[in-house]
Amino acid sequence: MSGNGKKGKVLVIGGGISGITAVIEASEAGCEVVLVEKNAYLGGRVARMNQYFPKLCPPSCGLEINYRRLRASTNIRCLTLSQVEKITGEPGRYQVSIQRTPRFVNNKCTACGECVKACPVDRPDEFNAGMSTTKAVYVPFDMAYPLQYVIDGDVCPGAECGKCVEACPYDAIELDMKPETVEVEAQAIIWATGWEPYEAGQIEGLGFGSSPNIITNVMMERLAAKNGPTEGKIQRPSDSKEVETIAFVQCAGSRDENYLKHCSGVCCMGSLKQARYVREQYPEAQIYIFYIDIRAPGRLEDFYAEVQKDEKLQLIKGKVAKITEDAASGDLVVEAEDTLAGERVNQKVNLVVLATGIVPADAAKVSIEAGGNLQRDEHGFLTNDQPLAGMLGAGCAKRPVDVAACVRDATGTALKALQICVEQAGE
Ligand SMILES: Cc1cc2nc3c(=O)[nH]c(=O)nc-3n(C[C@H](O)[C@H](O)[C@H](O)COP(=O)(O)OP(=O)(O)OC[C@H]3O[C@@H](n4cnc5c(N)ncnc54)[C@H](O)[C@@H]3O)c2cc1C
Repeated sequence: MSGNGKKGKVLVIGGGISGITAVIEASEAGCEVVLVEKNAYLGGRVARMNQYFPKLCPPSCGLEINYRRLRASTNIRCLTLSQVEKITGEPGRYQVSIQRTPRFVNNKCTACGECVKACPVDRPDEFNAGMSTTKAVYVPFDMAYPLQYVIDGDVCPGAECGKCVEACPYDAIELDMKPETVEVEAQAIIWATGWEPYEAGQIEGLGFGSSPNIITNVMMERLAAKNGPTEGKIQRPSDSKEVETIAFVQCAGSRDENYLKHCSGVCCMGSLKQARYVREQYPEAQIYIFYIDIRAPGRLEDFYAEVQKDEKLQLIKGKVAKITEDAASGDLVVEAEDTLAGERVNQKVNLVVLATGIVPADAAKVSIEAGGNLQRDEHGFLTNDQPLAGMLGAGCAKRPVDVAACVRDATGTALKALQICVEQAGE
């Protein structure tokens, strides 16, 4: 037990579904927990999805239940806009320095939005994968936790503009907020730093960047989302045309010696799900899925079987070699070898979705001076056996998996963290 009657102190880095789960489970088991999230909101990649497979429910439903549990706990300190800078001490007795970027908006904010009406500066909206803009003062999305505005200090001119300060009826804007360093102690540290999409422009032949009508699976989630850049209407970026033909290109970068050797685990299910989004909006659209193998393990096979019943959906077993744009129409020609039919395919479509793979998020900037470093596998994911007692990976920081697997893994990791705390207390 620590001095305050808690079973120990746990630090969780990353506030996606894995981190949130670990925080809640460790806290409900009696630990004092600090959550560090670099974004202005919790939820990670899941918050940016349109729907989850296999049930196709919106992310808000799962996240909201967790936010209620977070709010109900008195053991959790949640630090958004924060990153760990340095870890010192020794295994099991860590001192952690956390750097907090100013939000420039205080807790008096009611999210009324008056500041946005006054703000003259636009910035690309990273939440919508750059497909729309926000003002320099913005709320990341309608269901953000915390539901509080934030100012992007990189683009806001500050006091020399000050229009948001005048517009705010609640004195919630503080343009002179400074970065701060927060020091915490922890017996166990859970790395739930998750994943990032593989840089699609690096994949030769697939044309990302050469045509706006070649998008990634992450962009597709935002295009299909009601709170996305097109209010949920799936349309061609170049001319807002309705989609009559669409191709999903699987293993864009994944399972390829030249790019990512690993299977990214969730992209097949992701594209099957996104084919359903298309079908919902366009009953007559022709959908092509180019694949190497469809990976839909366990009960997810049922979802795959359901999608296969779609008569206007064609699964073509073959790796796509090249995608080129027809400049006159903005259409794309997808070239592949259909290995089952033994023939070359040149398929013309309105829109291409690259199922780009998952890479572990880069947490390399953290300086660990506590007797060793984090152990990663050949693909950069954290391994299960960390040489530093007290450091644990959870969720997609360890391997590419779906949300259900992340929740199971993070729950187990929280219990392991509790065990470490109890062992420390017994020494
Ligand atoms: C196109 C696509 C569609 C998908 N659809 C589904 C689906 O429908 N159903 C499903 O079950 N799964 C789906 N997945 C998988 C799902 O996205 C992951 O299972 C889930 O996001 C993993 O959650 P996580 O918390 O481990 O990681 P993340 O969601 O990546 O969260 C990690 C968090 O850590 C933060 N972070 C990172 N580094 C730091 C740092 N150094 N300091 C502080 N914070 C940091 C990040 O900002 C983020 O908030 C899909 C994946 C893709 C690619």
